[in-house]
Parts: sequence; structure tokens; C-alpha cells
Amino acid sequence: MLSHSMIRRNFSTVSKNYVNGQWVSSKGDVFFESKNPATQEVVRRVPQTPKSEFDEIVSVAKNTFEEWKNVPLMTRIRYMFEYQRLVNENTEELAKLITHEHGKTLVDSRGDVFRGFEVVESTTSFSSHLLGETLENLASGVDTYSYRHPLGVCAGVAPFNFPAMIPLWMFPVSITCGNTFVLKPSERVGTTTEMLVDLLEKSGVPKGVVNIVNGGKDTVTHICQHPDIKAISFVGSNTAGEYIYKEGSKHGKRVQSNMGAKNHCIVLPDADKEDTLNALIGATFGSTGQRCMALSVTVLVGEAQEWVPELVELGKKLKVGPGHDETVDIAPLNSAEALDRVERLIESGARDGTLLLDGRRPTVEGYPDGNWVGPTVIDNVKPGMECYDEEIFGPVMLILRADTYQEAIDIVNQNKYGNGAAIFTRSGSAARKFQRDIEAGQIGINLPIPVPLPMFSFTGNKASFWGQNNFYGKAGVKFNTQWKTITSRWREESEEVYKVSTAMPTMK
Ligand code: NAD
Repeated sequence: MLSHSMIRRNFSTVSKNYVNGQWVSSKGDVFFESKNPATQEVVRRVPQTPKSEFDEIVSVAKNTFEEWKNVPLMTRIRYMFEYQRLVNENTEELAKLITHEHGKTLVDSRGDVFRGFEVVESTTSFSSHLLGETLENLASGVDTYSYRHPLGVCAGVAPFNFPAMIPLWMFPVSITCGNTFVLKPSERVGTTTEMLVDLLEKSGVPKGVVNIVNGGKDTVTHICQHPDIKAISFVGSNTAGEYIYKEGSKHGKRVQSNMGAKNHCIVLPDADKEDTLNALIGATFGSTGQRCMALSVTVLVGEAQEWVPELVELGKKLKVGPGHDETVDIAPLNSAEALDRVERLIESGARDGTLLLDGRRPTVEGYPDGNWVGPTVIDNVKPGMECYDEEIFGPVMLILRADTYQEAIDIVNQNKYGNGAAIFTRSGSAARKFQRDIEAGQIGINLPIPVPLPMFSFTGNKASFWGQNNFYGKAGVKFNTQWKTITSRWREESEEVYKVSTAMPTMK
């Protein structure tokens, strides 16, 4: 097991807020506990920050904005050049920390850091996304031009499942656009955020530009209601995301809300069998199914239904154990609550469908208290069953059977979520139909987890995303900026100066 002593930085056992470049203990006396999921050892106690301290943090971010917005864009970008270098250089340390507090395998933790690093890297080319628009001589002596201006103080509310990647979707994009930021990490994985912020400080980003506030739902409500917060970036469950979208919008804020998922994969019988089965196993069970882009539902069309026994055999080969063991495929679920939910939904699947592989309660030598669930396969699932309608967020493959391709497409589109979907086929026309007809934000063709690189954006749909502009890429810049449009008139010196007119200006 990794202990804090194996990780270079010394973290305190109680999370602190980060305010104006200082780590400050909160006076809050209500705590959340973050536990190592393989052992139940308490990694951290996380305070519920009182409202008065929260207000102080926002006022620091507001005051800092007055200076930060005037820091030249190329200077902001140079900080990001340094920051991406530091994140990259510290990947291993960050990955160990993620495995320690989140539980995922080291290889997955490295991927978590890398996908976040790529977003930081992309901010160094934001000068092109931030370009404005101009039109000259619209009327006599009149030019009009639009700039993208920062919004002010922006806030982020992060989930537990990507402790590095998702905070890195948020503050680097926002501050490069000229905003200051208040981040509320997940109460379950805040230590990784601390290290990300330490590295930001090392990169030279001035004090007060990024601030951290700890807490749970109360802090989220403060964020939604505070008049000086202009925009909220949220990633997490629908319960939280729908609340934040409504409450934040009611208080006049922009909100981008990335929420739950039930990602389907259609398998046509002409697909490359070996590639498809391997991809399904990796994308369903990888990260113990705790990825918002995990393929949790497999729809087998026609003769592809004969591949079920091989899927089950492949699932059986995966090794369950603690994330720091490099031979392990399936690490523990992040929390005891998650374990309860996953076991309850497997039970319902066993009742309503056909349980082909039961991963409940595996024995993991030396770790009797971990949140263990091994690969589980439930066949003959149908919409309307509890295990299908609810997000499981665990290592569970649900198999639905369809006689025709159209039937499979209808199943996918009738699902309320629309985060991602994939198809495996050798047919170009079937793939093209899929890309046009499927109502999901991210489409994979012979590719199971199509998370876009940051020159694109992360594009959920239906109940998986509420908002107008997505995270990162061009859409991320739009979310974090507002247009300011200037119309100017410079008359020729010889022209008659302005005459008084009360008519609506028509710019002739
Ligand atoms: P969560 O909603 O429980 O927590 C996310 C954040 O919201 C945390 O910071 C938490 O403190 C806060 N929160 C929790 N309950 C709240 C409430 N009732 N009101 C206000 N705030 C609340 O989510 P999680 O368990 O940390 O993450 C897993 C979920 O995130 C899954 O549903 C997964 O699909 C989703 N997710 C979505 C994406 C995406 O891009 N669509 C990416 C990653 C995770």
C-alpha cells in the first residue's frame, strides 16, 4: 500500500483552503472523511468551510481579478507553458497520490494526469481562440470590433473520479482567459488538487488567481448564490448538476453542467471480433467502471449475440486488487457508499435479467476491508429494469440483444443520457448512419472511449449535459469569456462636428 511517506510532499491530515497564495486552516468544525478505498484508512478530513470564510475567499478572487485581467495575454500563456511542463514532470508523483486517495490503478492514474496535462498544454494556443471580430467603415467614419473579455470570478465544482483531469479542465482554461477562480474539489480526492495548486504556484501564477475552498453541498450552494461569481463549471452526478444548473442560473450565472451517463456500444456481427471484445472489456471494466465515458451497456445485434460466452471468459481473467499493484486490472470502488449502490444494482440485475458473471465480494489477499467488486456481466437486460435505468458507475456490463441494427439504434436513443456511444463494425455505411442518427455528444467508431483531444471539446448531450458551451477547446473559451463590441466613429477633421439628434442612430 502506498502511504503518504512514499509521496514526496507532506500533506496535512486535514484539508486546508488556499486563499491568496496561502494554505489556511478553516475554522469549520464539521468534517467529511476521505478514505483509502483499499484499506479504509482515513487519508484526509475535509472541513465544511463556513460562509464567512467562503465570502473572504471570493473577495480575494474578486480583488485579484482587477489586476489579473490586465496581465497581458502572452504573459498568461507563458505561465501555462511553465505549468504544463511542471504537471508533466510531476506525473508520477501525482499518479501515486491519485491511487492513494482515489484507489484507481497506477496506469489509470497516469492517464488521468496526462489527459489533464493535454488541456493545460492546449491553453498555450488560446490566442487564436480569443481572437475577436472587426468590420471597418460600416458607416461614415464608423468601425465596429468585438473582443472576448474575461467574466470575473469563476468557480468549479469537481467530482471524485478524475482527481487531476477534471480540475485541469476547469481552472487553467478559465484563468488563461483572464478570469480568477475558486475551485471546490471533491471532498473525497482533495489532496491531488493541493498538489496541482502547488505546481501552479511554482509556475509563477500570482497569488489569488486560483483559490481553493473545501466543503460539501453547503459550499456548492454558496457558490450558486454569491453575487460576485459569474460562472460555474460543474462535473458530477445529475442530482448535484441539475441543482447547480437551476440554482446558479436563477442567480444570474452561466453554468456548464457535465453529468451522468449510460454509454452504449452497438456491436454488429461484421465487426472484427477480437478487437471488439478486447475494447468492450477495457472500456467497461477499466477504472472499475468509474469513468463517465465507460461503456456500461453492450447491445449485440444478430449473430454478434453468440460472442457472449467469450466476453464472460475475458471478464473472468481480470485481476482485482489494490491500485498500486501494477499487475491489477480492477482496483476498488472509491467509497463504501458506491460499493452498496453497485451491489444493490447487481442484485436487481440478477433478479430481472440473467447474471452470467457475479463479481460481488471477491477475496483480495491482505485487504479484507477494501471496496471490492470484480467484473460482472448481466445478460438479457431491458429498458425499464432498475440496473438499466440507474447509473451503476461500477464494473458491470449490461448486455441487451437486438434483432436488427435499427432496433439497436432506437434502444440507444431512447435512453435519457447522451454522453457517449460507440459502434463496432466493418461497414462504412452502418458507421455513417450511426454518426448521423445517434443522439450522443461523443461518438466512437471502432473506438470505445472517444474522449476528444482538447482542440475539440467534451460534448455531452441530453441528460448528460446542461448548458450552452462545453468544457475546453473553443467552447471552453466561449464559456469563460463575454463579447464586448465597440462601435467607434472618427470623423475627418474637415467634417462638421456632431450635431444634436434625438433619432435612433442608423449609422449612415
Ligand atoms: P457528485 O455529484 O456526488 O459530486 C460532485 C461534486 O458535487 C462534489 O464536489 C460534491 O461535493 C458536490 N455535490 C455532491 N452532491 C451534491 C448536491 N446534492 N448538491 C450540490 N453539490 C453536490 O459526483 P461524484 O460521485 O463525485 O462523481 C461521479 C458522477 O460524475 C457520475 O455520475 C459520473 O457520470 C459523473 N461524471 C460526469 C462526467 C462528464 O463529463 N459528464 C465526468 C466525470 C464524472
